[in-house]
Amino acid sequence: MPPTKICGARPLNDLSVNGAQMATMSELDIRYILQPYTNARSLESTGPLIIERGEGIYVYDDAGRQYIEGMAGLWNAALGFSEERLVNAATAQLQRLPTYHNFAQKTHSPIILLAQRLSQISPPGLERVFFANSGSEATDTAIKLIWYFNNALGRRQKKKIISRNRAYHGTTIASASLTGLPGNHQDFDLPLACILHTLCPHHYRFALDGETEEEFSDRAAAELEALIVREKPETIAAFIGEPVMGAGGVIIPPRTYWEKIQKVCRKYDVLIIADEVVTGFGRTGKMFGAETFGIEPDMMILSKQLTSGYQPLSAVLFTDGIYQAIADNSNLLGSFGHGFTTGGHPVAAAVALEGMTIFDERRIVDDVAAIAPLFAEEISRFADHPLVGHVRSIGLLGAVELVADKASKSPFAAPGRTGAFLAGRCLANGVVLRALGDTIAFSPPLIIDPQQVMQIFSRFSRSLNETFEWSRNQ
Ligand code: PMP
Repeated sequence: MPPTKICGARPLNDLSVNGAQMATMSELDIRYILQPYTNARSLESTGPLIIERGEGIYVYDDAGRQYIEGMAGLWNAALGFSEERLVNAATAQLQRLPTYHNFAQKTHSPIILLAQRLSQISPPGLERVFFANSGSEATDTAIKLIWYFNNALGRRQKKKIISRNRAYHGTTIASASLTGLPGNHQDFDLPLACILHTLCPHHYRFALDGETEEEFSDRAAAELEALIVREKPETIAAFIGEPVMGAGGVIIPPRTYWEKIQKVCRKYDVLIIADEVVTGFGRTGKMFGAETFGIEPDMMILSKQLTSGYQPLSAVLFTDGIYQAIADNSNLLGSFGHGFTTGGHPVAAAVALEGMTIFDERRIVDDVAAIAPLFAEEISRFADHPLVGHVRSIGLLGAVELVADKASKSPFAAPGRTGAFLAGRCLANGVVLRALGDTIAFSPPLIIDPQQVMQIFSRFSRSLNETFEWSRNQ
């Protein structure tokens, strides 16, 4: 056992549930958890930030300090942190049928209703649904569905999946392989050999001198085509992409990108998977990123805002054509041998259904479209700041990319250090934002109002200026 680290040695004074004490320890002892995306040694010395409760777009730590959750947690708390109706939907379902599965020809009504509803609202052609718990599981499922589908059609070579540098699709073995970030591969013995990566659609960072967005998109499509031809089209099963890249740095594709990429995929009979884990449910100002960018996917992956993050749930939507081949094969083999015990959990499904009703009743997606211009205007004010190379936004998704030198766009000598410092200042100034390397991401709850948008950017502005002062002394 490593030495005991007691976090802040704070007494647990408000951890009661219905009057009963949740924990009997007098202090929170952090040594038992290996935390995701955390430097374990830093955590040992500084301890975690412990969030105790939430209200609207705000969360409160265990010392009662308030923060605007400028990332909606992990891009998921669309309806904020205190939506009673979601709590009530979960409670009612817990009382009726707290758990059940979907294996072996059994299921429950919440998941049947949710599948119907998703099939109705999703882009044309996506009629069938498979449920899992997390985005990573859904992504792995998408790959397995495609392999099974191609085997069913006798296309036993057509198995490779093309992803992109800086993509984020999860952390399970296959989804981490699709993820195009070194930190998800290094020392995990990834990526798998059947996963390939092509150009990241980040015009600001990767365009050649004088290259327009359209020309950049031509080049991205040409590189994709060259990769498919080099690997042989009969070995390439699918192309996966987030309509807007999230964790890779909030990268909004250049004009005509998706149109050109899709054309290449269609030419070589390569399926298109839209990973809408971040962009789904209104984030870009339309219900799905596919609508915003004119993508016609064969498969779509959903999670996060599907339940506003109140319950773990994910879904893979796919065409009837894919379904029919899979159904035939399951008949041939006796069963479709894939599934997760809690995938499509009734409580999660009940929360998702209620969430979708709230989205309809309150016209949440229209609200995002309405507030997006203010969000864009406010974030664009930082473009002139000496530390900022690029700002971008779409809907309620934004990024401020920091650079060492504005003119040459050169990154910092110690990548990630300035971003981390700035995210730390933001936290100190009462706004939770995420540093993706030296890019600061914004993805607030979709229920944010104009005054709160101003509040995020005023806290960010102060933090950015403090970071500038600090950087001059480095
Ligand atoms: N796809 C995308 C686009 C994501 O952003 C994420 C998570 N941030 C995932 C997949 C993986 O989801 P999870 O963490 O629920 O496995």
